[in-house]
Amino acid sequence: MLSVSQLRSSYGRIEVLHGVSLEISAGEIVVVIGANGAGKTTLLHCLSGIQPIQDGNIVFRGESFNTVPAYRRVKHGLAQVPEGRQIFTSLSVEENLRLGAYLYTDDKVDRDMEDAFNMFPILREKRNLPAGGLSGGQQQMLAIARALLSRPSCLLLDEPSMGLAPILVAQIFDVVKNLKSLDVTVLLVEQNAFGALSIADRGYVMETGHITLSGEAQALIVDPRIRSAYLGL
Ligand code: ATP
Repeated sequence: MLSVSQLRSSYGRIEVLHGVSLEISAGEIVVVIGANGAGKTTLLHCLSGIQPIQDGNIVFRGESFNTVPAYRRVKHGLAQVPEGRQIFTSLSVEENLRLGAYLYTDDKVDRDMEDAFNMFPILREKRNLPAGGLSGGQQQMLAIARALLSRPSCLLLDEPSMGLAPILVAQIFDVVKNLKSLDVTVLLVEQNAFGALSIADRGYVMETGHITLSGEAQALIVDPRIRSAYLGL
């Protein structure tokens, strides 16, 4: 579904992605783990089209995305849930969700909203309240639901567990795992390596702009290199 090869990206003259390659098949949950500053967010921004690439290729569902602008990538079914949720705090929960559906004017938007409320009943309860009043976990649910309103076939999730209490982290990882049942393919970027590998099919390890290791999630979770560097074991 998504194929990335030899991707290079820079901020000014400083290159931070040095030839990153990865593959994601339809229906998979794939995680990229790595320390702070490894380049994970930059990678997602390159895929969604908000960060330019200097070299390499991004192919989504058979089509080159290299020169496709960000808004058209959403139309093609690739949506990003940004780091730090980035919800519109002064707008209501419902207004935030409707912004996710900005591409559509059809009747299906209301049904999609109902699907989102069925998936996250707390959002229905709070639909008319300002989104800024939601807890961190609820805001993360809203950010995911808002992205689903764009009818993606692939979601890019940037650190959805960041800053959440452990019980909420578990809930959010459950939500991500359940995206499979909606036929949504997932590329997840996480510093919580254990939680992410526990729900993923496959994983990549990114270190200072390079992919240094990849494999089945269940193999990575028992790999001594991962256990000492990322799981604190
Ligand atoms: P984090 O978990 O902290 O978000 P990350 O793995 O997502 O880390 P990136 O945010 O992609 O890493 O950062 C990769 C490198 O690029 C880091 O050295 C960072 O300082 C640098 N960087 C990120 N954004 C910018 C920017 N807007 N301008 C200049 N340098 C940047």
